Amino acid sequence: MNHPTMDHRGPEFGDITTDILAKSKQLFQTSGDVIIYPSSGTGAWEAALTNLFNPGDKILAFETGYFALLWKNLAQKIGLEVEWLKSDWRHGVDPNQIESALKNDQVKAIKGVMVIHNETCNGITSDLRSIRQAIDNANHPSLFLADVVSSLGTTAFNQDKLGVDVAICASQKGLMMPPGLGFNAINEKALNYSKNSKFSQPYWKWDRIIEMNKTGYYPYTPASGLFFGLNEALDMILEEGLDQVIERHRILGEACRVATDTWGLDNQCLNSSEYSDSTTALIMPEGHNADELRKTIYNELNMSLGTGLGQLKSKVFRIGHLGDMNELMLMGTLSGVEMGMQMADVPFNKGGVQAALNFLAENNKANMS
Ligand code: PLP
Repeated sequence: MNHPTMDHRGPEFGDITTDILAKSKQLFQTSGDVIIYPSSGTGAWEAALTNLFNPGDKILAFETGYFALLWKNLAQKIGLEVEWLKSDWRHGVDPNQIESALKNDQVKAIKGVMVIHNETCNGITSDLRSIRQAIDNANHPSLFLADVVSSLGTTAFNQDKLGVDVAICASQKGLMMPPGLGFNAINEKALNYSKNSKFSQPYWKWDRIIEMNKTGYYPYTPASGLFFGLNEALDMILEEGLDQVIERHRILGEACRVATDTWGLDNQCLNSSEYSDSTTALIMPEGHNADELRKTIYNELNMSLGTGLGQLKSKVFRIGHLGDMNELMLMGTLSGVEMGMQMADVPFNKGGVQAALNFLAENNKANMS
């Protein structure tokens, strides 16, 4: 990213964009188009909705947690009607509820189902395959929109196989980048559907960008500095191999949970099949404040843990284990948490770090050639 700024209308930039777009398709596993915006994930959410729908359209959303809530609020603010399936921020999307809501919609008023694949606020990963199945079981024409902001490059995701019409992502999580790039990966159904949208937010419109992307350019000034980083990030992921990257996250996620189970802290995610391999959100013991613990660890050990968001504020803290992360980095992180809890007089069972270390050592031993 320290590359000198390049003429974004010059010949070299066109080649870089063309290369990036081809590799991005491999990452999303789509034969459709990948649109990259100079935006955060929130911009990419807005882009997806304003490209597809019309003011007053109805969409279906599930309350997995804070980010589902923010996306739902955004949808309402731009004039969409949202059928909101409420939940307790401790479970992923319930496909049965999606299926019945769609079956009840006999006039097919619902135009889109939007879900967060990995809820970053509570470390809960929903099963996209069952949600796709639910939409199909209801025989409903609704579009399927999935936010993969904190799951792309950490958790198995194959857009074409899952029949996700629009996948929304951002640069700052599994892509190991600073914030600043937003993504919409879209299939042909979504692109065709977008032709009837009456929202008038020209900056986000897919068709203009797709047209210019054909030669590697953008209708506006792209975030060219970040493109150099993205190019490298995509190379790193593809060189390691997507399956290996996902497997590395699975092992690191499991090692983290071995430690947290030993400590005796409750995982905010109640269903073990929905544990996230990107983040683990832990509930503080009664009478203890998560942000006080985070403050101690930040001030004394110079390590920053994720805060509890929305209704989880001060009740949970989060350990991130995604992106450019390896076993020793995770062990450093877990050591910081265990030390910090002792320093802050938080009650816990010692030995989480040792248990995670044993788990990783045994796992490596089994895979040694
Ligand atoms: N979706 C998820 C799952 C997220 O974790 C985030 C941010 O952390 C967002 C959307 C919003 O992205 P941004 O903060 O980049 O606008």
